[in-house]
Amino acid sequence: MTRLQRRTFLIGGLASAGVVLASGGLATAVAYPFTLGVAAGEPVADGFVIWTRLAPSPLNADGLGGMGTANVDVEWQVATDQNFTQLVRTGTYTASQAWAHSVHVEVSGLQPGAVYFYRFRAQGQISPVGRARTAPAVGTSPALTMLFTSCSHYEAGYFTAYRRMAEDNPDLILHLGDYIYEGGAGSGVRKHQPSTEITSLANYRVRHAQHKSDVDLQAAHAAAPWVVVWDDHEVENNYANLVRADSSPAGDFAARRAAAYKAYYEHMPLRAAQAPSGSNLQLYRRLRWGSLATLHMLDTRQYRDDQACGDGSKVCPAADDPGRTITGAAQESWLLDGLGQRLATWDLIGQQVFFAQMLQSSAGARNMDAWDGYTANRGRITSGWQARGNTPVVLTGDVHRHYAANIMADYGTQNKVIGTELISTSITSGGDGSASETGTSSLNPHIKFYKNQRGYVRTVTSSTEMHVDFRVLDKVTTRDYPVKTAQSYVIEAGNPGLQAP
Ligand code: FE
Ligand code: CA
Repeated sequence: MTRLQRRTFLIGGLASAGVVLASGGLATAVAYPFTLGVAAGEPVADGFVIWTRLAPSPLNADGLGGMGTANVDVEWQVATDQNFTQLVRTGTYTASQAWAHSVHVEVSGLQPGAVYFYRFRAQGQISPVGRARTAPAVGTSPALTMLFTSCSHYEAGYFTAYRRMAEDNPDLILHLGDYIYEGGAGSGVRKHQPSTEITSLANYRVRHAQHKSDVDLQAAHAAAPWVVVWDDHEVENNYANLVRADSSPAGDFAARRAAAYKAYYEHMPLRAAQAPSGSNLQLYRRLRWGSLATLHMLDTRQYRDDQACGDGSKVCPAADDPGRTITGAAQESWLLDGLGQRLATWDLIGQQVFFAQMLQSSAGARNMDAWDGYTANRGRITSGWQARGNTPVVLTGDVHRHYAANIMADYGTQNKVIGTELISTSITSGGDGSASETGTSSLNPHIKFYKNQRGYVRTVTSSTEMHVDFRVLDKVTTRDYPVKTAQSYVIEAGNPGLQAP
Protein backbone atom coordinates (compact mmCIF):
# COMPACT_ATOMS: atom_id res chain seq x y z
CA MET A 1 0.00 0.00 0.00
CA THR A 2 1.43 3.43 -0.94
CA ARG A 3 1.64 6.29 1.51
CA LEU A 4 -1.21 8.06 -0.26
CA GLN A 5 -3.41 4.96 -0.16
CA ARG A 6 -2.64 4.50 3.50
CA ARG A 7 -3.56 8.11 4.22
CA THR A 8 -6.82 7.63 2.33
CA PHE A 9 -7.48 4.45 4.33
CA LEU A 10 -7.02 6.34 7.60
CA ILE A 11 -9.22 9.26 6.53
CA GLY A 12 -11.83 6.83 5.23
CA GLY A 13 -11.89 5.18 8.64
CA LEU A 14 -12.59 8.41 10.45
CA ALA A 15 -15.30 9.37 7.96
CA SER A 16 -17.12 6.05 8.23
CA ALA A 17 -16.93 6.15 12.04
CA GLY A 18 -18.59 9.56 11.80
CA VAL A 19 -21.38 8.18 9.64
CA VAL A 20 -22.06 5.37 12.06
CA LEU A 21 -22.06 7.63 15.11
CA ALA A 22 -24.19 10.32 13.46
CA SER A 23 -26.77 7.83 12.22
CA GLY A 24 -27.89 7.03 15.76
CA GLY A 25 -29.64 3.86 14.64
CA LEU A 26 -31.53 5.49 11.76
CA ALA A 27 -31.10 4.12 8.26
CA THR A 28 -27.73 5.18 6.90
CA ALA A 29 -27.11 6.36 3.39
CA VAL A 30 -24.17 3.99 3.05
CA ALA A 31 -24.69 0.26 3.51
CA TYR A 32 -22.08 -0.65 6.12
CA PRO A 33 -20.64 -4.09 5.19
CA PHE A 34 -18.89 -4.92 8.50
CA THR A 35 -22.02 -5.65 10.56
CA LEU A 36 -20.61 -9.03 11.67
CA GLY A 37 -17.46 -7.64 13.28
CA VAL A 38 -13.98 -9.08 12.93
CA ALA A 39 -12.15 -12.10 14.35
CA ALA A 40 -8.71 -13.66 14.55
CA GLY A 41 -7.77 -17.29 15.07
CA GLU A 42 -5.29 -20.13 14.67
CA PRO A 43 -2.29 -18.33 16.19
CA VAL A 44 1.19 -19.60 15.36
CA ALA A 45 4.57 -18.04 16.20
CA ASP A 46 4.65 -15.87 13.08
CA GLY A 47 1.00 -15.10 12.42
CA PHE A 48 -2.71 -15.87 12.66
CA VAL A 49 -5.87 -15.79 10.57
CA ILE A 50 -7.90 -12.59 10.38
CA TRP A 51 -11.57 -12.88 9.44
CA THR A 52 -14.55 -10.80 8.50
CA ARG A 53 -17.58 -11.19 6.23
CA LEU A 54 -19.19 -8.48 4.15
CA ALA A 55 -22.91 -8.43 4.98
CA PRO A 56 -24.72 -5.08 4.91
CA SER A 57 -28.04 -6.92 5.45
CA PRO A 58 -26.92 -9.96 7.46
CA LEU A 59 -30.36 -11.51 8.03
CA ASN A 60 -31.53 -11.57 4.40
CA ALA A 61 -33.28 -14.92 3.93
CA ASP A 62 -31.11 -15.88 0.95
CA GLY A 63 -28.08 -16.02 3.25
CA LEU A 64 -26.08 -13.68 1.02
CA GLY A 65 -26.03 -10.76 3.43
CA GLY A 66 -27.25 -8.15 0.99
CA MET A 67 -24.23 -8.57 -1.26
CA GLY A 68 -24.42 -8.92 -5.04
CA THR A 69 -22.85 -11.55 -7.23
CA ALA A 70 -19.66 -9.57 -7.85
CA ASN A 71 -16.31 -10.26 -6.23
CA VAL A 72 -15.25 -7.49 -3.84
CA ASP A 73 -11.66 -6.53 -3.01
CA VAL A 74 -11.12 -6.18 0.74
CA GLU A 75 -7.99 -4.38 1.92
CA TRP A 76 -6.51 -5.50 5.23
CA GLN A 77 -3.91 -4.04 7.58
CA VAL A 78 -1.96 -5.42 10.53
CA ALA A 79 -0.18 -2.94 12.81
CA THR A 80 1.65 -2.92 16.12
CA ASP A 81 -0.51 -0.05 17.41
CA GLN A 82 -4.26 0.45 17.43
CA ASN A 83 -4.00 3.78 15.59
CA PHE A 84 -2.39 1.93 12.67
CA THR A 85 0.61 4.26 12.44
CA GLN A 86 3.04 1.27 12.48
CA LEU A 87 1.82 -1.02 9.72
CA VAL A 88 3.66 -4.34 9.46
CA ARG A 89 1.56 -6.28 6.93
CA THR A 90 -1.06 -5.17 4.39
CA GLY A 91 -2.81 -6.78 1.47
CA THR A 92 -5.97 -7.27 -0.54
CA TYR A 93 -8.28 -10.30 -0.39
CA THR A 94 -10.91 -10.99 -3.02
CA ALA A 95 -14.21 -11.92 -1.34
CA SER A 96 -16.65 -13.92 -3.46
CA GLN A 97 -20.31 -14.83 -3.31
CA ALA A 98 -19.36 -18.52 -3.46
CA TRP A 99 -18.08 -18.11 0.13
CA ALA A 100 -20.72 -15.58 1.23
CA HIS A 101 -18.15 -12.79 0.87
CA SER A 102 -16.24 -14.09 3.86
CA VAL A 103 -12.57 -13.12 4.28
CA HIS A 104 -9.92 -15.49 5.65
CA VAL A 105 -6.43 -13.95 5.50
CA GLU A 106 -3.54 -16.09 6.75
CA VAL A 107 -1.14 -13.42 8.02
CA SER A 108 2.50 -14.51 8.35
CA GLY A 109 5.91 -12.94 8.90
CA LEU A 110 5.05 -11.49 12.32
CA GLN A 111 7.12 -11.58 15.52
CA PRO A 112 6.49 -14.38 18.07
CA GLY A 113 4.70 -13.65 21.33
CA ALA A 114 3.56 -10.20 20.20
CA VAL A 115 0.28 -8.26 20.17
CA TYR A 116 -1.05 -6.85 16.89
CA PHE A 117 -4.10 -4.94 15.70
CA TYR A 118 -5.95 -5.54 12.43
CA ARG A 119 -8.79 -4.08 10.37
CA PHE A 120 -10.34 -4.23 6.92
CA ARG A 121 -11.65 -1.78 4.34
CA ALA A 122 -14.11 -2.39 1.53
CA GLN A 123 -16.66 -0.38 -0.42
CA GLY A 124 -15.36 2.83 1.13
CA GLN A 125 -16.04 1.60 4.66
CA ILE A 126 -13.67 0.55 7.40
CA SER A 127 -14.16 -2.28 9.87
CA PRO A 128 -13.89 -2.30 13.65
CA VAL A 129 -10.37 -2.99 14.97
CA GLY A 130 -9.45 -6.40 16.32
CA ARG A 131 -6.56 -7.43 18.54
CA ALA A 132 -4.61 -10.65 18.13
CA ARG A 133 -1.47 -12.25 19.51
CA THR A 134 1.05 -14.57 17.95
CA ALA A 135 2.12 -17.70 19.80
CA PRO A 136 5.45 -17.46 21.62
CA ALA A 137 8.57 -18.96 20.06
CA VAL A 138 9.41 -22.59 20.68
CA GLY A 139 11.99 -22.61 23.47
CA THR A 140 10.11 -19.95 25.48
CA SER A 141 7.29 -20.42 27.99
CA PRO A 142 5.72 -17.07 28.94
CA ALA A 143 2.57 -17.34 31.07
CA LEU A 144 -0.66 -17.88 29.11
CA THR A 145 -4.09 -16.51 30.04
CA MET A 146 -6.55 -18.72 28.17
CA LEU A 147 -10.35 -18.77 28.43
CA PHE A 148 -12.63 -21.52 27.20
CA THR A 149 -16.37 -21.96 26.93
CA SER A 150 -19.14 -23.62 24.92
CA CYS A 151 -22.86 -23.67 24.18
CA SER A 152 -24.06 -20.21 23.19
CA HIS A 153 -27.80 -20.65 22.57
CA TYR A 154 -29.00 -17.31 21.19
CA GLU A 155 -32.52 -17.57 22.63
CA ALA A 156 -31.55 -18.79 26.11
CA GLY A 157 -29.97 -15.53 27.23
CA TYR A 158 -27.81 -12.55 26.41
CA PHE A 159 -24.15 -13.03 25.57
CA THR A 160 -22.86 -11.03 28.57
CA ALA A 161 -20.39 -13.82 29.37
CA TYR A 162 -18.73 -13.21 26.01
CA ARG A 163 -18.26 -9.54 26.93
CA ARG A 164 -16.83 -10.52 30.32
CA MET A 165 -14.37 -12.81 28.52
CA ALA A 166 -13.14 -9.84 26.49
CA GLU A 167 -12.74 -7.85 29.71
CA ASP A 168 -10.53 -10.58 31.21
CA ASN A 169 -7.87 -9.56 28.64
CA PRO A 170 -7.06 -13.09 27.46
CA ASP A 171 -4.20 -14.14 25.21
CA LEU A 172 -6.31 -16.93 23.70
CA ILE A 173 -9.95 -18.09 23.67
CA LEU A 174 -11.21 -21.61 22.91
CA HIS A 175 -14.80 -22.39 21.90
CA LEU A 176 -15.53 -26.10 22.38
CA GLY A 177 -18.79 -26.43 20.46
CA ASP A 178 -22.47 -25.57 20.17
CA TYR A 179 -21.53 -22.09 18.91
CA ILE A 180 -25.00 -22.02 17.32
CA TYR A 181 -28.10 -24.19 17.80
CA GLU A 182 -30.10 -25.48 14.87
CA GLY A 183 -33.61 -25.28 16.32
CA GLY A 184 -36.39 -22.96 15.22
CA ALA A 185 -37.66 -19.99 17.19
CA GLY A 186 -38.82 -20.88 20.70
CA SER A 187 -39.80 -19.04 23.85
CA GLY A 188 -36.49 -17.58 25.01
CA VAL A 189 -35.47 -13.97 25.68
CA ARG A 190 -34.91 -13.40 21.94
CA LYS A 191 -35.81 -15.21 18.72
CA HIS A 192 -33.80 -17.35 16.37
CA GLN A 193 -33.69 -16.40 12.70
CA PRO A 194 -34.73 -18.06 10.54
CA SER A 195 -37.68 -19.14 12.70
CA THR A 196 -37.69 -22.78 11.57
CA GLU A 197 -35.09 -25.52 12.16
CA ILE A 198 -32.17 -24.78 9.85
CA THR A 199 -31.26 -27.29 7.13
CA SER A 200 -30.07 -25.36 4.04
CA LEU A 201 -26.89 -23.40 3.39
CA ALA A 202 -28.91 -20.15 3.34
CA ASN A 203 -30.46 -21.08 6.72
CA TYR A 204 -27.13 -21.89 8.38
CA ARG A 205 -25.60 -18.67 7.03
CA VAL A 206 -28.42 -16.55 8.45
CA ARG A 207 -28.19 -18.26 11.85
CA HIS A 208 -24.41 -17.72 12.01
CA ALA A 209 -24.85 -14.12 10.87
CA GLN A 210 -27.42 -13.52 13.59
CA HIS A 211 -24.89 -14.66 16.19
CA LYS A 212 -22.05 -12.62 14.70
CA SER A 213 -24.32 -9.52 14.81
CA ASP A 214 -24.32 -9.68 18.62
CA VAL A 215 -22.12 -6.91 20.03
CA ASP A 216 -21.04 -8.92 23.10
CA LEU A 217 -19.86 -11.78 20.90
CA GLN A 218 -18.13 -9.29 18.60
CA ALA A 219 -16.24 -7.91 21.63
CA ALA A 220 -14.91 -11.37 22.53
CA HIS A 221 -13.80 -12.04 18.96
CA ALA A 222 -12.07 -8.65 18.73
CA ALA A 223 -10.19 -9.18 22.01
CA ALA A 224 -8.03 -12.22 21.23
CA PRO A 225 -7.46 -15.01 18.71
CA TRP A 226 -9.88 -17.92 18.98
CA VAL A 227 -9.38 -21.62 18.39
CA VAL A 228 -12.71 -23.30 17.66
CA VAL A 229 -14.08 -26.82 17.39
CA TRP A 230 -17.71 -27.77 16.89
CA ASP A 231 -20.02 -30.17 18.67
CA ASP A 232 -23.43 -31.40 17.49
CA HIS A 233 -25.67 -28.32 17.33
CA GLU A 234 -23.64 -26.67 14.59
CA VAL A 235 -25.40 -29.32 12.47
CA GLU A 236 -28.09 -31.25 14.39
CA ASN A 237 -28.62 -32.37 17.98
CA ASN A 238 -26.69 -35.59 18.79
CA TYR A 239 -25.84 -36.49 15.17
CA ALA A 240 -23.09 -39.08 14.75
CA ASN A 241 -21.00 -38.91 11.56
CA LEU A 242 -23.68 -39.28 8.85
CA VAL A 243 -26.28 -40.77 11.19
CA ARG A 244 -28.97 -38.25 12.00
CA ALA A 245 -30.57 -38.21 15.43
CA ASP A 246 -34.13 -37.87 14.15
CA SER A 247 -35.94 -37.79 10.82
CA SER A 248 -37.40 -34.29 11.16
CA PRO A 249 -37.13 -32.28 9.02
CA ALA A 250 -36.79 -34.87 6.26
CA GLY A 251 -34.05 -34.54 3.67
CA ASP A 252 -30.60 -35.69 2.64
CA PHE A 253 -28.50 -35.57 5.82
CA ALA A 254 -25.14 -35.62 3.99
CA ALA A 255 -26.24 -32.51 2.08
CA ARG A 256 -27.41 -30.89 5.30
CA ARG A 257 -24.10 -31.62 7.02
CA ALA A 258 -22.20 -30.23 4.04
CA ALA A 259 -24.24 -27.01 4.23
CA ALA A 260 -23.67 -26.70 7.98
CA TYR A 261 -19.92 -27.36 7.69
CA LYS A 262 -19.56 -24.82 4.86
CA ALA A 263 -21.40 -22.10 6.80
CA TYR A 264 -19.27 -22.89 9.89
CA TYR A 265 -16.08 -22.42 7.88
CA GLU A 266 -17.38 -19.22 6.32
CA HIS A 267 -18.04 -17.69 9.75
CA MET A 268 -14.97 -18.79 11.70
CA PRO A 269 -11.33 -17.56 11.66
CA LEU A 270 -10.02 -20.84 10.23
CA ARG A 271 -7.21 -21.61 7.79
CA ALA A 272 -7.75 -22.91 4.25
CA ALA A 273 -6.64 -26.31 5.61
CA GLN A 274 -10.05 -26.34 7.34
CA ALA A 275 -12.07 -25.45 4.22
CA PRO A 276 -14.85 -27.98 3.58
CA SER A 277 -14.51 -30.77 1.05
CA GLY A 278 -17.94 -32.08 0.12
CA SER A 279 -19.68 -33.13 3.33
CA ASN A 280 -16.33 -33.42 5.16
CA LEU A 281 -14.15 -30.85 6.96
CA GLN A 282 -10.77 -31.51 8.59
CA LEU A 283 -11.18 -29.83 11.99
CA TYR A 284 -8.93 -31.79 14.36
CA ARG A 285 -5.53 -30.14 14.47
CA ARG A 286 -2.62 -29.22 16.74
CA LEU A 287 -1.43 -25.75 17.73
CA ARG A 288 1.76 -24.99 19.62
CA TRP A 289 2.04 -22.25 22.23
CA GLY A 290 5.83 -22.07 22.47
CA SER A 291 7.31 -24.69 24.76
CA LEU A 292 4.57 -24.02 27.31
CA ALA A 293 1.59 -25.86 25.82
CA THR A 294 0.41 -27.94 22.91
CA LEU A 295 -3.27 -27.73 22.02
CA HIS A 296 -4.64 -30.98 20.60
CA MET A 297 -8.06 -29.94 19.24
CA LEU A 298 -10.39 -32.87 18.62
CA ASP A 299 -13.50 -33.49 16.51
CA THR A 300 -15.63 -36.13 18.27
CA ARG A 301 -18.65 -35.72 15.91
CA GLN A 302 -17.55 -36.30 12.33
CA TYR A 303 -16.09 -39.80 12.67
CA ARG A 304 -17.98 -41.37 15.57
CA ASP A 305 -20.09 -44.50 15.64
CA ASP A 306 -23.76 -43.97 16.36
CA GLN A 307 -24.68 -43.74 20.04
CA ALA A 308 -24.98 -47.23 21.58
CA CYS A 309 -28.49 -48.10 22.79
CA GLY A 310 -29.73 -44.76 21.42
CA ASP A 311 -29.26 -41.27 22.82
CA GLY A 312 -29.58 -40.32 26.46
CA SER A 313 -28.61 -41.88 29.77
CA LYS A 314 -28.62 -45.67 29.54
CA VAL A 315 -27.38 -48.84 31.19
CA CYS A 316 -25.73 -50.21 28.06
CA PRO A 317 -23.06 -52.94 28.01
CA ALA A 318 -22.76 -52.43 24.22
CA ALA A 319 -21.16 -49.03 24.95
CA ASP A 320 -18.07 -51.00 26.03
CA ASP A 321 -17.71 -52.85 22.71
CA PRO A 322 -13.98 -52.66 21.85
CA GLY A 323 -14.81 -51.88 18.21
CA ARG A 324 -16.64 -48.63 19.00
CA THR A 325 -15.04 -45.27 18.27
CA ILE A 326 -15.82 -41.61 19.00
CA THR A 327 -12.65 -40.24 17.34
CA GLY A 328 -12.27 -42.57 14.36
CA ALA A 329 -9.11 -44.63 14.00
CA ALA A 330 -7.09 -41.96 12.16
CA GLN A 331 -7.73 -39.27 14.77
CA GLU A 332 -6.96 -41.69 17.62
CA SER A 333 -3.54 -42.45 16.10
CA TRP A 334 -2.92 -38.79 15.37
CA LEU A 335 -3.68 -37.85 18.99
CA LEU A 336 -1.41 -40.52 20.47
CA ASP A 337 1.38 -39.63 18.03
CA GLY A 338 1.10 -35.97 19.02
CA LEU A 339 1.08 -36.75 22.74
CA GLY A 340 4.14 -38.94 22.24
CA GLN A 341 6.07 -36.02 20.76
CA ARG A 342 6.02 -34.24 24.16
CA LEU A 343 6.33 -30.88 22.41
CA ALA A 344 5.70 -28.73 25.50
CA THR A 345 5.30 -28.75 29.28
CA TRP A 346 1.50 -29.00 29.00
CA ASP A 347 -0.64 -31.15 26.73
CA LEU A 348 -4.10 -29.59 26.52
CA ILE A 349 -6.80 -31.63 24.77
CA GLY A 350 -9.61 -29.31 23.63
CA GLN A 351 -12.75 -31.29 22.81
CA GLN A 352 -16.51 -31.49 23.10
CA VAL A 353 -18.09 -34.07 25.40
CA PHE A 354 -17.53 -35.32 28.98
CA PHE A 355 -14.34 -37.41 29.03
CA ALA A 356 -14.16 -38.88 32.54
CA GLN A 357 -16.60 -41.55 33.65
CA MET A 358 -19.79 -40.13 35.12
CA LEU A 359 -22.26 -42.70 36.46
CA GLN A 360 -25.79 -41.33 36.50
CA SER A 361 -27.38 -44.09 38.58
CA SER A 362 -26.22 -46.81 40.94
CA ALA A 363 -27.28 -49.29 38.23
CA GLY A 364 -24.57 -47.80 35.99
CA ALA A 365 -26.49 -45.53 33.60
CA ARG A 366 -24.14 -43.34 31.55
CA ASN A 367 -24.50 -40.63 28.90
CA MET A 368 -24.37 -42.43 25.56
CA ASP A 369 -23.41 -39.22 23.71
CA ALA A 370 -20.21 -38.73 25.77
CA TRP A 371 -16.98 -40.77 26.07
CA ASP A 372 -18.90 -43.05 28.47
CA GLY A 373 -20.59 -44.41 25.33
CA TYR A 374 -17.21 -45.20 23.75
CA THR A 375 -15.19 -46.59 26.66
CA ALA A 376 -12.74 -48.74 24.67
CA ASN A 377 -11.69 -45.71 22.62
CA ARG A 378 -11.21 -43.75 25.86
CA GLY A 379 -9.22 -46.59 27.38
CA ARG A 380 -6.84 -46.80 24.42
CA ILE A 381 -6.18 -43.07 24.67
CA THR A 382 -5.62 -42.99 28.43
CA SER A 383 -3.41 -46.09 28.47
CA GLY A 384 -1.60 -44.61 25.48
CA TRP A 385 -0.87 -41.35 27.24
CA GLN A 386 0.27 -43.19 30.38
CA ALA A 387 2.69 -45.26 28.27
CA ARG A 388 4.06 -42.03 26.75
CA GLY A 389 4.44 -40.26 30.10
CA ASN A 390 1.78 -37.59 29.47
CA THR A 391 -0.46 -36.03 32.13
CA PRO A 392 -2.92 -34.08 29.94
CA VAL A 393 -5.52 -31.55 30.91
CA VAL A 394 -8.74 -32.27 28.99
CA LEU A 395 -10.91 -29.22 28.25
CA THR A 396 -14.60 -29.93 27.67
CA GLY A 397 -17.99 -28.28 26.95
CA ASP A 398 -21.46 -29.67 26.13
CA VAL A 399 -23.08 -30.23 29.54
CA HIS A 400 -24.12 -26.65 30.39
CA ARG A 401 -22.57 -26.95 33.84
CA HIS A 402 -19.15 -26.34 35.29
CA TYR A 403 -17.45 -29.49 36.53
CA ALA A 404 -13.89 -30.27 37.62
CA ALA A 405 -12.71 -33.89 37.61
CA ASN A 406 -9.69 -36.08 38.09
CA ILE A 407 -9.22 -38.58 35.27
CA MET A 408 -8.55 -42.00 36.82
CA ALA A 409 -6.72 -45.10 35.65
CA ASP A 410 -9.54 -47.12 37.29
CA TYR A 411 -12.82 -45.45 38.22
CA GLY A 412 -14.11 -48.49 40.11
CA THR A 413 -11.26 -48.59 42.60
CA GLN A 414 -10.58 -44.84 42.24
CA ASN A 415 -6.95 -45.82 41.78
CA LYS A 416 -4.42 -43.36 40.41
CA VAL A 417 -5.04 -39.92 38.95
CA ILE A 418 -3.69 -39.88 35.38
CA GLY A 419 -5.03 -36.58 34.08
CA THR A 420 -7.31 -33.66 34.83
CA GLU A 421 -10.58 -32.57 33.19
CA LEU A 422 -11.97 -29.04 33.26
CA ILE A 423 -15.52 -28.78 31.96
CA SER A 424 -16.86 -25.34 31.09
CA THR A 425 -20.48 -24.38 31.51
CA SER A 426 -22.38 -22.63 28.70
CA ILE A 427 -22.50 -18.99 27.65
CA THR A 428 -26.33 -19.12 27.77
CA SER A 429 -27.69 -22.64 27.19
CA GLY A 430 -29.95 -23.67 30.06
CA GLY A 431 -30.77 -20.10 31.06
CA ASP A 432 -29.89 -18.58 34.43
CA GLY A 433 -29.39 -21.86 36.31
CA SER A 434 -29.15 -22.03 40.09
CA ALA A 435 -26.15 -21.11 42.23
CA SER A 436 -27.27 -23.42 45.06
CA GLU A 437 -27.95 -26.57 43.00
CA THR A 438 -25.80 -29.55 43.98
CA GLY A 439 -24.54 -32.04 41.42
CA THR A 440 -21.56 -34.01 42.68
CA SER A 441 -22.30 -37.59 43.76
CA SER A 442 -20.76 -40.44 45.75
CA LEU A 443 -21.13 -42.43 42.49
CA ASN A 444 -18.31 -40.31 41.06
CA PRO A 445 -15.80 -39.42 43.81
CA HIS A 446 -13.30 -38.18 41.20
CA ILE A 447 -15.72 -35.38 40.15
CA LYS A 448 -14.92 -32.61 42.61
CA PHE A 449 -16.95 -29.58 41.55
CA TYR A 450 -20.32 -28.75 39.99
CA LYS A 451 -22.00 -25.43 39.29
CA ASN A 452 -25.17 -24.87 37.29
CA GLN A 453 -24.63 -21.26 36.26
CA ARG A 454 -23.50 -19.69 33.00
CA GLY A 455 -19.98 -18.47 32.25
CA TYR A 456 -16.58 -19.76 31.20
CA VAL A 457 -13.29 -21.10 32.57
CA ARG A 458 -10.20 -18.92 32.97
CA THR A 459 -6.77 -20.54 33.11
CA VAL A 460 -3.42 -18.87 33.80
CA THR A 461 -0.67 -21.31 32.94
CA SER A 462 3.06 -21.14 33.65
CA SER A 463 5.75 -23.78 33.24
CA THR A 464 5.12 -24.92 36.83
CA GLU A 465 1.35 -24.66 37.38
CA MET A 466 -2.06 -23.90 35.92
CA HIS A 467 -4.37 -21.70 37.98
CA VAL A 468 -8.03 -22.34 37.15
CA ASP A 469 -11.01 -20.06 37.87
CA PHE A 470 -14.58 -21.18 37.19
CA ARG A 471 -16.28 -17.89 36.21
CA VAL A 472 -20.06 -17.43 36.60
CA LEU A 473 -22.82 -14.83 36.11
CA ASP A 474 -25.93 -14.84 38.31
CA LYS A 475 -28.20 -14.08 35.35
CA VAL A 476 -28.06 -14.14 31.57
CA THR A 477 -31.78 -13.55 30.92
CA THR A 478 -31.15 -9.98 32.12
CA ARG A 479 -28.36 -8.06 30.43
CA ASP A 480 -25.03 -6.92 31.84
CA TYR A 481 -24.55 -8.97 35.01
CA PRO A 482 -21.02 -8.95 36.45
CA VAL A 483 -18.84 -12.05 36.44
CA LYS A 484 -17.32 -13.65 39.54
CA THR A 485 -15.20 -16.68 40.39
CA ALA A 486 -17.20 -19.55 41.89
CA GLN A 487 -14.27 -21.89 42.52
CA SER A 488 -10.53 -22.07 41.88
CA TYR A 489 -8.03 -24.91 41.56
CA VAL A 490 -4.36 -25.38 40.84
CA ILE A 491 -2.88 -28.13 38.67
CA GLU A 492 0.86 -28.73 38.95
CA ALA A 493 2.85 -29.45 35.80
CA GLY A 494 3.59 -33.18 35.62
CA ASN A 495 1.44 -33.93 38.67
CA PRO A 496 -2.12 -34.55 37.42
CA GLY A 497 -5.20 -33.77 39.50
CA LEU A 498 -7.02 -30.88 41.11
CA GLN A 499 -5.47 -29.14 44.10
CA ALA A 500 -6.61 -26.31 46.35
CA PRO A 501 -5.19 -22.99 45.14
FE1 FE B 1 -24.93 -27.38 24.19
CA1 CA C 1 -23.68 -30.65 22.53
